Amino acid sequence: MILKNCRAYINNKFVDCCIEIDDDGRIKRIAKIIDGEGIDLKNKIVIPGCIDSHVHLRWNSKKEGFESGSLAAINGGFCFVIDMPNDNPPITNKDRFYKKLRDAKKAKVNIFLNYGVTESNYKDYVKEAKAYKLFMVKSVGDLYINDYSKLKSILEEDKLFCVHAEHKKIIEENLKKYQLKSWVDHCKIRDKKAEVEAVKEILKYKKNRVYFCHISTKKSLELISNDYVEVTPHHLYLNKERAEELKGLGKFNPPLRDKEDNVALIKALNDKIDVIASDHAPHLKEEKERDVKDCPSGIPGLETLIPLTLNLVNKNLISLERAIKLISLNPAKIFNINNKIEVNNEANLTILDVKKDITIKAEDFKSKAKFSPFDGWKVKGAPIYTIVNGTLYETTYNL
Ligand SMILES: [Zn+2]
Repeated sequence: MILKNCRAYINNKFVDCCIEIDDDGRIKRIAKIIDGEGIDLKNKIVIPGCIDSHVHLRWNSKKEGFESGSLAAINGGFCFVIDMPNDNPPITNKDRFYKKLRDAKKAKVNIFLNYGVTESNYKDYVKEAKAYKLFMVKSVGDLYINDYSKLKSILEEDKLFCVHAEHKKIIEENLKKYQLKSWVDHCKIRDKKAEVEAVKEILKYKKNRVYFCHISTKKSLELISNDYVEVTPHHLYLNKERAEELKGLGKFNPPLRDKEDNVALIKALNDKIDVIASDHAPHLKEEKERDVKDCPSGIPGLETLIPLTLNLVNKNLISLERAIKLISLNPAKIFNINNKIEVNNEANLTILDVKKDITIKAEDFKSKAKFSPFDGWKVKGAPIYTIVNGTLYETTYNL
């Protein structure tokens, strides 16, 4: 396969070239001109395969699974995803980890796994784990740290910890003050202070650089200086003014914040923030249509992340180069994933049409979760092809 007239992002600059991919899925040649039949990518951008470093593909669950989850990733422009350990039962021992990993290897997309940290397993070392997920609030089973005095010993381990920072005690106090009756009550119970205090707790004890998942407040951003920061598109674009209107589509953790947080997060995409990840968290549609008490937290995000990121480029809020860092180069560096566009490397490429006007349609999602707070949004920029280990897929945004 030959990709012709590419504008490819190679070694931090745009290069006009053709890229030939071998039958075994490797990049064979990169040259100004390569003769032969090929796919014309004039005015399209080819970037190192995008990485979504925070997904819940819900292995073996009817809500998603590796099959539909892989298709959703590919359709969203991703060649690689890092899956979280809060399966049921959670991935908190090596047996479960390797069983899950065997299934992950059979998937169409490249799936990496994080290992779940508990109060008792934190000395486990798992070579194949991309990182260690640390929940500060209850997740599934024993997958969370209940006793924060243990954080010091845990964070002394020489590992990369991905932290879900919401402070258990603050949430417990809020639960005494507020009843969960309206959608905005969910935001009040898991308030900004819960995130900020959790971040402080980690900063107090950490030894190495940690990776803060889905940071959602201006205040947390101000506190973090030497650690990795991840944000989600829903915290960039949405806030609690829309909580009642969005209903279940606006229920996730951390919850919707304020306009000032959207503004601060978007500004920080230019410096402090390292990664945009989706926190893809599918549920059944009927579950998300329940009232606030029974509606589970989380929304799908794999198929909206790249369009929503490119839309920020088109709004001149970030540069295209910066967007490429946030969705591809930075996660590659942090999690040690080789997505480089170079001869002999496996061909993992995302092809973007940065100027394409699209309408997000949740009914077209490959994910089983065909709903989104962004359904019907008109945005500019989308992935049109994803090449995973040499196999070309056309996304629904190119149809
Ligand atoms: Zn998550």
